[in-house]
This record gives sequence, C-alpha cells and structure tokens, in this order.
Amino acid sequence: MAAATPAAMSTENERNPWLAAAARFDEAALRLNLDDGMQKVLRSASREICVNIPVQLDDGRIEVFTGYRVQHSLARGPAKGGIRFAPDVTLDEVRALAAWMTWKCAVVNIPFGGGKGGVICDPNVLSDAELEKLTRRYTAEIIDFLGPERDVPAPDINTNEKIMAWMMDTYSMHARHLVTAVVTGKPMALGGSRGRPEATGRGCMIVTLRALRLLGMRPEDTRVVIQGFGNVGGMAAKLMSAAGFKVVAIADYDGTVYNPKGLDIPALQKHRKETGSITGFSEGEDVDKAEGLFLPCDVLVPAAVENVITSANADKLRCKILCEGANGPTTPLADLVLHDKNIFIIPDILANAGGVTVSYFEWVQDRQGFFWNEQMVNERLQEIMVESFDAVVDYGAKHGVNNRIAAYMLALDRVAFAIKLRGIYA
Ligand code: GLU
Repeated sequence: MAAATPAAMSTENERNPWLAAAARFDEAALRLNLDDGMQKVLRSASREICVNIPVQLDDGRIEVFTGYRVQHSLARGPAKGGIRFAPDVTLDEVRALAAWMTWKCAVVNIPFGGGKGGVICDPNVLSDAELEKLTRRYTAEIIDFLGPERDVPAPDINTNEKIMAWMMDTYSMHARHLVTAVVTGKPMALGGSRGRPEATGRGCMIVTLRALRLLGMRPEDTRVVIQGFGNVGGMAAKLMSAAGFKVVAIADYDGTVYNPKGLDIPALQKHRKETGSITGFSEGEDVDKAEGLFLPCDVLVPAAVENVITSANADKLRCKILCEGANGPTTPLADLVLHDKNIFIIPDILANAGGVTVSYFEWVQDRQGFFWNEQMVNERLQEIMVESFDAVVDYGAKHGVNNRIAAYMLALDRVAFAIKLRGIYA
C-alpha cells in the first residue's frame, strides 16, 4: 500500500495542483484500504491529449497555441468537465482538474467520469474572430475523443456559452447533424438548460445553508466574503444576498470592496458594468486587494482559482465555514492549519458540484429533446446537493475523517466499485 504522498507536503510543492490532488487521493485510498492495483488505475489519467493549434490572427500572422484535454476516468460514464483558456494553463493543472471532475461527479452520484481541457492563451488579447478560430480548431483536433457518449466539455475559467456554441457547431458540422449533447453550458436557444448559469453559485448556497443548519447558525446573522465575481462568485453573491445572507465583501482581481453591513450586490454588479471595476463603489469601502480573504466573516467562499489558501496565509483566515466554490483553492498544507483552527470545510468536489449537476440535467434534456422549467431544475439540484452534503458529513462522522477526506473516500469507493464490476478489459 502506498504511503500518503509527502510530495505536496512541502512548501516548494504545495502549489502543484496535481500533487495536491494526489495527496488527498492517497489519504483516502489508504483509509479505504484500496488495493495497490486499483490505486494505480484510479491515480492515473485514462487519456491525456496534447494538441498544437495553429490560428491565423487578424493581422495575418500565424500563431500556434498549445491545448490539452485530459480524460481522467471513463468508468462511470463519459468524461465530463470544463475547458479553460488561460496563459498559465499547465498539463499538471489540467490533470488535477480532470481527476477532481471524476471525484466530483462521483460525490454527487451522476453518471459521468471526469475530464478537463485547457488552452494556453490570453483570451483578453484575442479578438472574437481569433477566439472563434482557436475554439473551432481546438475542437477539431480533439474531435475523435468527444461526443455525448465519450466526453462532454463545458465552460470553465474564461470560457462561456458562446464558446460552447462554437464547439457544438464544429462537432455537429463534422457529424453532419446537430449534436446538442456534446457540450453543456450552451445558450438556451441551442439546447442549454434553464438554471445552468446560476447552478454552481446556487449549489454553493445550498450546501452553505446546510452547514449553517448543522452549526446552528441563521443566514440573517451570517457574514459572507466571496473571492471572485465571475460566474461562480457573482452568482453566489447574488443568490446568497437575495436569500438574506450579509455579503460583506467581494474580493476580485482588481480590488476588494467591503461593507460590514452587507453589500447591495445588484448595485455592485451595475457599478462594475458601468465602470469596468468593482472598486470605487459608493456603498462600500475599497480595502487592500490582498486582504480580502482575511476579512472577518462567518463564511468564506473562494470562487476564483487554485492555491489561494496556502501554508503562508491559512492562519490569517477569520471564517467559521469555508465553502470552496473554486477548484483546488486550498493546499494540503493549508488544510492542516484550517483543521487546527476548527474551520468547517465544504470541499470543492462537493461545494462547486452544482455546475456539473445541472450540466448533467442539460445533457439529459438534450438527449430526450424535452426541456424542464427552471423550478424543476432547481428542485432537482437542491435534492442532489442536500443529499450529497449529508452523505459526506455522515460519512466523515462515521469514519472519523474530515469533510474533504470523507468526500474523496465516498467518491473513490464509488468509482472503484464501478471498475470492479466492469473488470479490466484485456
Ligand atoms: N467547469 C465546471 C467545474 O469545474 C463545470 C463542469 C461541467 O459542467 O462539466 O465543475
């Protein structure tokens, strides 16, 4: 049996997402007593595709971008997971994110494996036409591995429904017929699901409400700090403030805005739309951007990128509950500190699973050609998130492990069971 990975437990390595994922995996596998062979299967990605994507830029020059699609597991269903466009994408990052998708889909018990894609590029400097060419060529390069039964991408950092529409169109042109179920997070007019844009933020709110209930707290008395004001953070802020939480701070890449009485989120959204930034908002105070995470609150929702809570700053957190809207915001070394501080963690593979859950609903609706109303989507999401939260917390209590390891154990067990039933094809 492999010993728990020490690699991620050093400060030099703690920011490597793949090592972070492996450290949690190892601990869960050890506690589950998974045999060595099964550990080897679950630890490695099933397929890692690397493509170089030539794009003719608007000025006539040709640039080549590197892209990845990693399919970590196909044991419980087609690979599922987003595609991110960012300058700092690495294969190790995409690998970790793909594995997290496998565990995430298993935690909420939806019939998917896990995958993730990434293209190394800065979408902010690309025109719409360049972005479209990049998206279509990337899709064409990995097309043999995509499909409603094979691998179903979705939006992630810097990708959106417009990009999903281009991916779907490219795939459909090659298939010679419309295949809506090949991607999720599409526009409503092209087979998207009601409630999908809000789903990740809504899922964060549902599990936070569940945690409050457990800890005897009330939303009206709960101060929330959110890092990130994009799809996940923005929606979480909007829905949580509408549900009565006091969202006291938003920390985004351009600044942190704070109001201890609670921010008017729709007004802040309007302000950002008009000025391009959350800073300078008349009903809030601008505070040092780097201090956002450490403001006093009851619930902290990191909803931006990986590795924001590390051994260097975990001690400064002043929350009771950490609801991980982002993937991998907390390093394994930081986990140790948070444990000592008795912070209740709702781990990423549970907390942000609302997005992929409604992606599953979208895939089901596309395949059935029958679309649900928003109430039905939200009710089913609520049911799955509550059930999954309770399952993780109960599992943790029963086995004497924290919520993160409980979520991993639950997930690993489900995936290992599927592999055992299927057997190893030779
Ligand atoms: N990118 C989202 C995530 O990390 C959604 C994935 C999906 O819907 O497939 O969970």
